[in-house]
Amino acid sequence: MSNIIICPNHEYQVPFISTMAFMGAEKWCPYCGHTTGIFHDGKEVDATPELIKRQVDYREVSKDFIHAKGVTHCSLTTWKGNAILPDQLPQEEKDRLAQIRGEWKYNIKIEETV
Ligand SMILES: [Zn+2]
Repeated sequence: MSNIIICPNHEYQVPFISTMAFMGAEKWCPYCGHTTGIFHDGKEVDATPELIKRQVDYREVSKDFIHAKGVTHCSLTTWKGNAILPDQLPQEEKDRLAQIRGEWKYNIKIEETV
């Protein structure tokens, strides 16, 4: 069985999600918000089917949030097929992204959302 890296901060096992959406970090815990880099502080555990499913589910529900978060830091984004600076996004899109960023809730077990 291969390994999976989980967040060290809580009993509830949550695999990190790999993302570039957070400044200076490559891994993010969707449960507590912990971020860490390549030399992570997570725990390596057996990648059980349950943990793999949990990671897939968290990735799925956090897609919009990660996009909204990532656009804040990135130097280029796309809008209607064109590459533009995040600052050049229409105000309503900026507002929409800000709302998504604000709506993400931590400390929710993925099993409780489905
Ligand atoms: Zn965590």
